[in-house]
Amino acid sequence: MPYPAAVTRVTAPWQRLLAEAIVDPAELLHVLGLPDSLLPAARRGAALFPLRVPAPYLQRIRPGDAADPLLRQVLPLDLECETRPGFSADPLAESAAQPVPGLLKKYHGRALLIATGACAVHCRYCFRRHFPYADAHAGGSRLEPALAAIAADPNIGEVILSGGDPLTLSDPRLAELAQRLAAIPHIHTLRIHSRLPVVLPQRVNGDLMAWLRRLPLRKVLVLHSNHPAELDAEVDAALAALADAGVTLLNQAVLLRGVNDDADTLATLSERLHRANVLPYYLHLLDRVQGAAHFEVSQTTAEALIDALRARLPGYLVPRLVREIPGEPGKSVIA
Ligand SMILES: *Cc1c(COP(=O)(O)O)cnc(C)c1O
Ligand code: SF4
Repeated sequence: MPYPAAVTRVTAPWQRLLAEAIVDPAELLHVLGLPDSLLPAARRGAALFPLRVPAPYLQRIRPGDAADPLLRQVLPLDLECETRPGFSADPLAESAAQPVPGLLKKYHGRALLIATGACAVHCRYCFRRHFPYADAHAGGSRLEPALAAIAADPNIGEVILSGGDPLTLSDPRLAELAQRLAAIPHIHTLRIHSRLPVVLPQRVNGDLMAWLRRLPLRKVLVLHSNHPAELDAEVDAALAALADAGVTLLNQAVLLRGVNDDADTLATLSERLHRANVLPYYLHLLDRVQGAAHFEVSQTTAEALIDALRARLPGYLVPRLVREIPGEPGKSVIA
């Protein structure tokens, strides 16, 4: 294999793989055998939103292929520097929906706790690429007010850990947070939204399984995978372990131009997820965040893709096509 450095990293514990993720555009291009001519644009894009790719994800990118669908999700480009009408820094107006820093209560019956601002990978299309993570997550001294607000609202039955990526937190911290939530009588479900089982499957280890198995709540993990090539044997093993611990596994994908905007890729993604115990849940239209306009797929095309999936897959493998509209209580289902 062409990446000796990456291979030694993949056998390391997840904390080291996370810490040693590639953040230098020159190193990314070098490891993948891509031309240096891509470097100036990658540096300009990375100045707006830093590059970050962990080694296990890097290993699934085809060397020498600048059009690889996984590479496109992580390689910074000049196109990100363009401003386009209709694309804003806070497309979901989340800054306005926080009663307590780090706690979003825009969904009925559910509270979304931004447990950390950190991610294992930086996805170029991310709607939070301009979000003030450092100020807004509910870590450290902010946790108590967020927990108090959840405890004080009996309408909240489900707590969603989001981010950033909540699985970048250590198991002692997650276990403690989960125990605190389980002690609130009206909380019945813990949901985790994470890309880590995909980009860093080593994260799903014995320590995570130990507290998840013990947790007296219903457990849901919504995976974020956008392309079937993101799933390999290590990801399968991580997902099998989660399923075995009683976790309901769902996937949400973002419809991305040049990555997964064709019926074959989406159908294969659904089938591949199903083989790994995961049901497709949502297919998101892109949130119109500044710097991601080149990923947008029109709603008409998206609807045609859903029709094509419906024609060839069982109903349970067809994701719901959704869009987030600021101020709406939940997602708007389109098809
Ligand atoms: C959509 C979404 C939710 C909650 O909405 P559901 O309709 O209950 O799934 C929570 N977190 C993230 C990151 C979401 O995208
Ligand atoms: S993992 Fe999620 S929150 Fe983090 S950069 Fe990717 S899309 Fe954004």
